[in-house]
Amino acid sequence: MKYSTEMMQKIAQQLSEMIKIAILEQIETEQVGPTIAQIEQGMRESLRQIGQESLGMVLSGLQKTPEREIECKCGGRLRYQRKREATVISVFGKVSYERAYYAGCKCKKGKAPLDEQYGLVPGAVTAGLAALLAQAGVAFSYDESPRWLETFLLFDVAENTVRAETEQMGALQAQAEKELIEKSHQESYLQERQRQPGAIPVQLYGSMDAAKVRTEPRPKKGEAKEAHEDWRDMKVLCWYEVENVPPARRSARQRNKVQREQPALRAKNMRYFSDISEAEEFGKLLWATGCALNADLSPELIFLGDGAIWIWNLVGKYYPQAVQIVDWFHAEEHLEAVAAAAFTDLTQRAAWLEPVTQALWDGQVEDVIQACHALAETCQKASQAATYFSNNLERMRYDRFRAAGYMIGSGTIESACKQIVTHRLCLPGAQWEVEGAIHTAKARASWLTGTWASLCRARSALPLAI
Ligand SMILES: [Zn+2]
Repeated sequence: MKYSTEMMQKIAQQLSEMIKIAILEQIETEQVGPTIAQIEQGMRESLRQIGQESLGMVLSGLQKTPEREIECKCGGRLRYQRKREATVISVFGKVSYERAYYAGCKCKKGKAPLDEQYGLVPGAVTAGLAALLAQAGVAFSYDESPRWLETFLLFDVAENTVRAETEQMGALQAQAEKELIEKSHQESYLQERQRQPGAIPVQLYGSMDAAKVRTEPRPKKGEAKEAHEDWRDMKVLCWYEVENVPPARRSARQRNKVQREQPALRAKNMRYFSDISEAEEFGKLLWATGCALNADLSPELIFLGDGAIWIWNLVGKYYPQAVQIVDWFHAEEHLEAVAAAAFTDLTQRAAWLEPVTQALWDGQVEDVIQACHALAETCQKASQAATYFSNNLERMRYDRFRAAGYMIGSGTIESACKQIVTHRLCLPGAQWEVEGAIHTAKARASWLTGTWASLCRARSALPLAI
């Protein structure tokens, strides 16, 4: 929208006159003038009130001359009654406006076409305010959000409204994912994509992990109504690309990595998805979001993860061509645990650990397994580690992965879990309804991915879209 500069200046002129008078009055009565912060705050409050008044006038002014009769959704006829007042909560606070109201159909439903046209629901928040509330809701806890919002909006919003609008954004994301999943199973879509795939990433990484969320107590199977505290796995998926870090920008940790013969790589263009669902269900999301990115058509698709079996099962099922890599740090940790369990003497411990870690780094996993087997009789940890390394043998050819220039650490997905789950859903005292946790996480994942604007557009189309 474009506004006339001239008119804006006129309004500014008038506002400045009003503020000047208020300042002078205060000086006269209190002998001291307001501080700059007080002037700013006062002006913000005035501008809010002007917005409030003005938006009401704009909405009322958008009402065209009412027609005598219009068609009802049911196919019947609605007759014009009168102009009726309605109130919505906008970015300026409560706004009242008048619009034409129709009634008298046999279905008994009335209608205000202006409300439908602009997605206004009397008594509810506008799409503009909803986007701001949800933006606070993905960043802060629901009981903290109103305090933040009041600072910026200059009026009070209820905690439950913030929650409802944030979860609504998550529900819209869930809806978009559902549509993507349906599409990704249609033969016609997949064939069309083969013919005209669009941009195919030269190299793409995928990574999955899970983090615990505390959910509301539910009765356990077999036990009557007694409730138990419950923890559920929030699964997180991240698609990303990697780039080389220029030497000057390398952190101490990255420099350390380079010294260990690995180029310093960092993730970029991260796209996050999350859900509380069984692995099979989550696999559909993995496939659908991968389709949207042409992951399956990429000549170099790499998956990084810890040893969790569900991850590798899904990768094997949907992307059998992908390179599978077990996170280097998880693998190394297993060796450290074996050394700590098998040797109390620190010198002996180091003497065992050093060559075996080097062997792992060089991709000689068979040697690593043998070294664990040698300790297995007296050390259970060593026996377990031998199984772990055997199960993941081909996923630990770190010599080859390094030679190919691949990232071998799963820091990206671990950071994703922290950002989406730990930092927002695991705040002190937090206990979630499962659906609330899912939708809040999906909204946050969209915010972090940078697809927030599309959710706001979808929210603007409500309630027509539902
Ligand atoms: Zn009707």
